[in-house]
Amino acid sequence: MDLKNAVVFVTGAGSGIGAAIASHFGRLGSSLFLVDREQDALKNAGNFLISIGVKNFETFAADISQELDSKKMVNQAIKRFGKINIVIPCAGLIRDGLLLNLEKETKKVKSKLSFDDWQDVLNVNLNGTFLTVRDCAEKMAEGGWPGLIVPISSVNKAGQLGQLNYSSSKIAISLFPKVIIGEFLLKKILNIRVVGIAPGYTRTPMLEKMNQSVLDSLLKTVHLNRLIEPSEIAKLIEHISSNEALNGTTVEITGGICHAHGVVK
Ligand code: NAD
Repeated sequence: MDLKNAVVFVTGAGSGIGAAIASHFGRLGSSLFLVDREQDALKNAGNFLISIGVKNFETFAADISQELDSKKMVNQAIKRFGKINIVIPCAGLIRDGLLLNLEKETKKVKSKLSFDDWQDVLNVNLNGTFLTVRDCAEKMAEGGWPGLIVPISSVNKAGQLGQLNYSSSKIAISLFPKVIIGEFLLKKILNIRVVGIAPGYTRTPMLEKMNQSVLDSLLKTVHLNRLIEPSEIAKLIEHISSNEALNGTTVEITGGICHAHGVVK
């Protein structure tokens, strides 16, 4: 893919991984269509792009979990740039909590994962990603442009305690590449590849919302012994865009997470 002439469509572009991807591809000369539901975050991301000399972008405020917003943002991207080549649906959120939390003494349930927290996470991470992927893919299939879709899963697809909602959304997202590419083969949609990414613990505002002691203990399982930088994820996506052999799979980028417990002597 010729990245200088590519149109890169990023959701969740106001913060963290999405914002880093925007500046990475902006520096490479791609045109950027940037979506977030937070206007201020989008404005800051836009100002940062201008400060590093990136001018060929449009920001668009939308809630990716709303079907109408999804349609509007994709139509606007086509209106502005005439095509979409790379889609990176980064918008996502966490609402951590245990399914049940008991009083130590009485064993009575003192709190439980609320249905709102369950639904909010599934609505954005799963339903929203579905809408972005479907609505962009529709234009890309009809346009016949060289294309790549990169759904963002997470290493916590393995099942993180306290994240029943988040882990459920991310295991589902990790299946997108395999199922969609199978359907594309069936229907001879051969111009679009789908390659997911499952990042490990990455230095972004989302992670700052996690409990610090939980985060410290999680980092003890990382061979690299540090958080991943969002720019390292952007570099991986650049590589994926140039390597056609990667397709129909979800690639982990974690710094080497070891979930095994116990000491090997
Ligand atoms: P972040 O909180 O820094 O950024 C997420 C962005 O998504 C925010 O700007 C937010 O406003 C936007 N957003 C949320 N809901 C939205 C909606 N309905 N419509 C439009 N925009 C919306 O998070 P991040 O760490 O950059 O995460 C980006 C993606 O990477 C998420 O899907 C996340 O699950 C995934 N991820 C993150 C990590 C990590 O350690 N940070 C690890 C694995 C996967």
